[in-house]
Amino acid sequence: MPVPERPVVTRIAPSPTGSMHIGTARTALFNWLYARHTGGTYLLRIEDTDRERSTEAAVQVIHDGLAWLGLEPDAPPVFQFAQADRHRQVVEDLLAAGRAYRCYMTVEELAAARELARAEGHAIRSPWRDRDPPQGANLPHVIRFRGPMDGETIVDDLVKGPVRFHNSELDDLVLLRSDGAPTYNLAVVVDDHDMGITHIIRGDDHLNNAARQTLIYQAMGWEVPAFAHLPMIHGEDGAKLSKRHGAQAVGEFADRGYLPEAMRNYLARLGWGHGDDELFTDAQAIAWFDVKDVVKAPARLDWAKLGHVNNHYLRLADDARLTGLVIEAMKRRAADLTSDLTPRLLAVIPLVKEGAKTIVELDDLCRFAVARRPIHLDGKSSSLLTSESRARLSRLSAYLADEDDWTPEALLSRLRSFAETEGVGLGKFGAALRAVLSGGLPAPDLASALTALGKTESLGRIEDALSRPQ
Ligand code: GLU
Repeated sequence: MPVPERPVVTRIAPSPTGSMHIGTARTALFNWLYARHTGGTYLLRIEDTDRERSTEAAVQVIHDGLAWLGLEPDAPPVFQFAQADRHRQVVEDLLAAGRAYRCYMTVEELAAARELARAEGHAIRSPWRDRDPPQGANLPHVIRFRGPMDGETIVDDLVKGPVRFHNSELDDLVLLRSDGAPTYNLAVVVDDHDMGITHIIRGDDHLNNAARQTLIYQAMGWEVPAFAHLPMIHGEDGAKLSKRHGAQAVGEFADRGYLPEAMRNYLARLGWGHGDDELFTDAQAIAWFDVKDVVKAPARLDWAKLGHVNNHYLRLADDARLTGLVIEAMKRRAADLTSDLTPRLLAVIPLVKEGAKTIVELDDLCRFAVARRPIHLDGKSSSLLTSESRARLSRLSAYLADEDDWTPEALLSRLRSFAETEGVGLGKFGAALRAVLSGGLPAPDLASALTALGKTESLGRIEDALSRPQ
């Protein structure tokens, strides 16, 4: 009978830096998708060994980012710093097995060894590798891994294929610093082993670490997990994503008004895809995703495509939810708004959301509807208020006041019949009406704008404009 494979366990292992990079979000998504696809488990480890940066607030940023993305782990997080005693214990085991040694090189000796290694084209070797420890006082030292001097280490990466490393090029990495602090590569291996991780899916900036980590697994006689190193995310110009490409942190994408479901859909396409499908649900992504299908080439963050995907999800989104998000955006962007914000937004959002790529754009498209009376008229709008147009608007106002069916259809036919009565085209007064309703802000067609504002507000705005001094 074949040995049943272990159920898949994936993880993300972010360091609390104070912001969550979009690359980390994509890594989280791929780990989540793969765990969901295989019926496995998706875990979180907070790599909080940098005590200065790992504040409670910085850890909270990770939780908030994952919660917003809808990618919360299946179990409470493991905190790496809390495992330090366990890491030290493993180093003791490696020492006892002869797979690690104490190295007493001074800073100057290390610098000289580094120079020599560079000149001779090999990895740094410590003379203490094959030397007995000095007698007497407990001199300051680090503990290094005793790596193989020859042969190769192969990382059989699920994305990159087999990647070969000459062991002679891998130096004897420090496992414990002189103050007893475990190093990153050691801690990662011990924690991943203890958490039962079967698949390490992370950014390909960690590919070189995978070779060193493999050696530690082997030295401990532990099963080496499968590795999958994801291509980096680049900007549109092909350069590594940086500040000049715009938003990088998950929080910035949220503030700019991207929806989490749109982010999941879009991020899934960065390095992975299912044919030409641009838009798909979580359930489809889970059904289709396999880490083996991730591509090697760097992915490019394409703002136009992200906007297109977000527009799709804005159109699908419930208007009450969008209303809440627009109100948050409006508050963040400080604006003088009407007090009956919610009903006004609920009325206007369905009329304008098709034209928005983000919540911030949706906010802009709703502004005309939530401005406080008397609304500000921009220069162009006030210039449309000639004595002729004022007189016509005054007649129109009386005519609209008689309309009880305040719907786009009824209002459109009323505007048309008004134009007929006046013997002019709609264009003759449409611009002036639009000006007094919107003040020059973007607004939908007249009948929709009137409907969204409601009868009292619409007539009030016309009234305000007519009572302005000429
Ligand atoms: N803490 C590492 C980072 O934030 C991740 C380590 C790993 O995934 O193995 O880049």
